[in-house]
Amino acid sequence: MGSVGTAPPAVEELRASLKASKVLTADSEGYDESLHRWSEAAEKRAAVVVQATCAEDVSKALLYAQAQGLEVAVVGGGHSTSGSSSTEGGLVVDLTKMRQVTVDPERQTIKAQGGTVWEDVDHAAAKYGLATVGGTVNHTGVGGLTLGGGYGWLTGKYGLTIDNLLEAKVVLADGRILQASEKENSDLFWALRGAGQSFGVATSFTFRGYKQENAVWGGLLVFPTSSLAKVVEFANHVVTTTEGQSGMVVGIGAPAPARQPAVLTVLFYNGTKDEAVRYYAPLFDLKPIVDKTREMPYEEVNAMLNTVSTHGDRKTQKGTAFTVPLSTDLAQQILDDYLDFIAKIPDAIKTIILFEFFSQKVVNQVSQTAMSFANRGEHYNILFSVRWVGELNDAACREWTRNAARRVTDAEQAKRSGDGVGQYGNYDGIASASAKDIFGVNFERVLALKKQYDPKNVFFKGAGKFPLFGGDKAPGLGTQSKP
Ligand SMILES: Cc1cc2nc3c(=O)[nH]c(=O)nc-3n(C[C@H](O)[C@H](O)[C@H](O)COP(=O)(O)OP(=O)(O)OC[C@H]3O[C@@H](n4cnc5c(N)ncnc54)[C@H](O)[C@@H]3O)c2cc1C
Repeated sequence: MGSVGTAPPAVEELRASLKASKVLTADSEGYDESLHRWSEAAEKRAAVVVQATCAEDVSKALLYAQAQGLEVAVVGGGHSTSGSSSTEGGLVVDLTKMRQVTVDPERQTIKAQGGTVWEDVDHAAAKYGLATVGGTVNHTGVGGLTLGGGYGWLTGKYGLTIDNLLEAKVVLADGRILQASEKENSDLFWALRGAGQSFGVATSFTFRGYKQENAVWGGLLVFPTSSLAKVVEFANHVVTTTEGQSGMVVGIGAPAPARQPAVLTVLFYNGTKDEAVRYYAPLFDLKPIVDKTREMPYEEVNAMLNTVSTHGDRKTQKGTAFTVPLSTDLAQQILDDYLDFIAKIPDAIKTIILFEFFSQKVVNQVSQTAMSFANRGEHYNILFSVRWVGELNDAACREWTRNAARRVTDAEQAKRSGDGVGQYGNYDGIASASAKDIFGVNFERVLALKKQYDPKNVFFKGAGKFPLFGGDKAPGLGTQSKP
């Protein structure tokens, strides 16, 4: 295993062998900057960072890492809170310089390089009046989000991000560069759509685009906590009646500048302001204390949640699922649990809990076994997104997150119809779930393909821990760094 400070042997040979990619070690300009992640708690000091500019250089970097016994991490948007895109003393394949997006307006396709963030895609596609299903925070990486599934404001209309993935270019652990689609390497393509982070480095994605020429409406409303039950009742109504033109997120948090516990709603309506205001009238009747809703071009919609999802501080995340109608008693219990938590650890005041009321009708039209992703069903994501400053609070904040999510899982388990795992792999920012937990009915096939495409478990940091080598990579590739 490499150690930070001393460059691993043969790093100069690696540098000389690459086309235009940079190789950074602790003494290089730009090295410290390259280690930054969305959560400071997820930053680790790599021995080598390869800032790749093409698939061929990614391939060489992967072979070099294995020859030198270095563990591998891959970074796209850097939003993992478990540290899955960082390594202590290993090699990072850094895709952040691969952010080109090409749109084919004739075929209505959008091709994004492996290191793009959703803002890149949204803006490039909008130039041609197109959009696809992207993440609701536009600085999130296309890579991690897509390979794990992908929910967004357009999910109600067009399903998951992976339901709209047409092909991907992937570099495997053995250095091969493959194209994967329904027609080419279709078993690999099946695995990539859900379990992709554990299969290779995706250097490009091609998505189906949809006409999105009209402006949309949306934004934030803030209510006192006493409005929680009424807001939840309305959200239950919206999600069961929408035809996909609307979606809403209900949040519990203490937004700036007041930092007072409150109920938030982030709203989306794919239509005019007049239509939207009529549609959401019951919420306006509750007299929000903050109203930041407005009409906007589609490419701005994935910036609506950015203000509650900024970089910096220490963070963890854990997802679970709720069924609709969401019980107002359960919502109140979660609020009480949160109030108790921030009273005990005031440092965690920037914590936010999000309930995603995105229609699952279109998602559920695809069979559970059509791709490795196994979370389709009549349930909806909750995300506990916990944020604090002091390192001394790491253990307590992570423990609360784990327990709070488990309490919801336990309360909701009996109500779920049994379809889908009830846990979105990309929201397991604690890395506590096994591959069986995340891939459910698809687990055996995912495992068989994993043994075929990544038998040494080089990509051991992705969502869901595989039983190969006890979840770790092959012996000899450095020691596993803990989240
Ligand atoms: C603020 C915030 C908002 C979010 N909103 C949404 C949302 O609206 N919808 C949703 O579905 N999810 C959402 N997520 C979850 C998000 O999908 C995951 O955190 C995702 O893993 C982030 O990907 P990334 O590329 O930014 O992160 P990274 O930390 O760079 O990567 C995460 C994992 O993916 C792997 N990876 C990244 N890129 C590649 C690649 N090109 N090839 C191979 N492996 C790769 C990494 O190795 C790592 O294991 C959100 C997360 C955050 C923190």
